[in-house]
Amino acid sequence: MKEDTIIASTGRNKKYTHGAVNTPVYHASTLTFDTVKQMKDAYINRHKGALSYGRRGNPTTYALSDAMCELEGADGCFLYPSGLAAITGAILSFANSGDHILMADGVYEPTRALCHKTLKRMNIAVTFYDPMIGADIAELIQDNTKIIFVESPCSVTMEVQDIPAITQAAHARNLLVMMDNTWGTPLHFKPFDFGVDFSIHAGTKYIVGHSDAMLGTVSTRAAHMEQLSDMSYQMGYCVSPDDAYLALRGIRTLKVRLRQHEQNALKVAKWLEGRPDVDHIRHPAFASCPGHEYWKRDFTGANGLFSFVMKTGNEAATTAMMEGMKHFKMGYSWGGYESLILTYYGIKNYRTATGWDAPGPLVRLHIGLEDVDDLIADLEQGFMRFNAKL
Ligand SMILES: *Cc1c(COP(=O)(O)O)cnc(C)c1O
Repeated sequence: MKEDTIIASTGRNKKYTHGAVNTPVYHASTLTFDTVKQMKDAYINRHKGALSYGRRGNPTTYALSDAMCELEGADGCFLYPSGLAAITGAILSFANSGDHILMADGVYEPTRALCHKTLKRMNIAVTFYDPMIGADIAELIQDNTKIIFVESPCSVTMEVQDIPAITQAAHARNLLVMMDNTWGTPLHFKPFDFGVDFSIHAGTKYIVGHSDAMLGTVSTRAAHMEQLSDMSYQMGYCVSPDDAYLALRGIRTLKVRLRQHEQNALKVAKWLEGRPDVDHIRHPAFASCPGHEYWKRDFTGANGLFSFVMKTGNEAATTAMMEGMKHFKMGYSWGGYESLILTYYGIKNYRTATGWDAPGPLVRLHIGLEDVDDLIADLEQGFMRFNAKL
C-alpha cells in the first residue's frame, strides 16, 4: 500500500468502528467482561491493546495507537496527555538513579528543564552535546550512559542531526536512542529505519493540526513496549477520547496539509533569504541550515516551521515587528493552520554545549495555510517597523 492509502485507511478497524467510517468517541472508564476467561485474557494482553481498563485505553485511543504504529513502522504506540508528558514518560520509563543521559543541546526547552530539575533530583546525570556531533558522540558515552536523546531538527535553531551515525554509536554500546520527532511528523522522517528505539511526537502540533487539542505519543519496538506501558499505567498517563479522535481526524489530512505548509514556507523563506536585513535562514531545506545534507539524505519533506537570523537588531525592533503583525500571531504551539511569529532572546543563556553566536535576533515563523502573498506583505510591513527602531 502506498502512503496516501495507508493514511486514509489506517486505524479503521471494524471491531472499533462497527462500520462507521470513523472510530466513534468512546467515553469509558469501565470496560466490562462476560467471562472470567475474557477478563484474564484482557490482563495478559494489557500492553497490546486489549480492552482492560479505561486508563489503559478504549477503542478510540487504540485506533490512534494502531494508526501511529502503521505510519511509523512501530510495534506499539502509547499515548500521553501532551508532547512533554510523552518525553518525560519515555525517559522515566528507562532511566534509573545513577544513570547518565546524553541530550542534544538544541532540545525543546522544557525537555532541558526536566534535565536540570527532576532528573537531577533523581540522581540522573545529563550531558548536553553539540547536535552536529555525529559519530563523535561515541567519545561522550560513559559506563553509566543509558540513553541518547536526539531532536532533529532541533527546536528553534533547527540543526538537523546525523541520526544514523548516532544510533550506530549508541547500539555499539547497547544504549537506547529516543527521538523527539515532532518536526519530522510520522510522514517525513521514519525513525525506526534509522535505528531509533523510541519515536516521540507532540501530537499537539501537525497530527492534531488545528491548534485545538494536546496529545503526545511514543512509538517503539516490541522489546520495549511492556516497560513503557507499565510506566504509563503507574504514572496514570491517559488521554481523552475526544482528543484522540481529533488526532485521528488530523491524520487523514496530514499529508495534504504538510504539502501546503511546506510550499508556503519555502516561498516565504526564499523571500526572506533575498532580504538585505536577513543574515541567514534556518530551514532544513536551505544550505545555510546546519545539517541540511542530513535532511536531504534522510527526510522526505519539510513543513511550515523554520527560523531566520537578522543581521542586527534589538528588542525594541523585534517588539515593533511582532506586535504590529496582521496575520502572524505571537504564540508557541505550532502545527495548526495559522501563521505564528516569535523571537527567542535567551538562546545564548541556556545553550551549554555550543553557545549561540548570531549577529542579530532569531525569529521563528510558523507558516500556515493563508495566502503566501498576504503573509509576505505582512512581513514586509514588519521589517519596516523593525528597521525604523534600529
Ligand atoms: C511543542 C513541542 C513539544 C511539547 O508538546 P506539548 O504537547 O506542547 O507538550 C515537544 N517537542 C517539540 C519539538 C515541540 O515542538
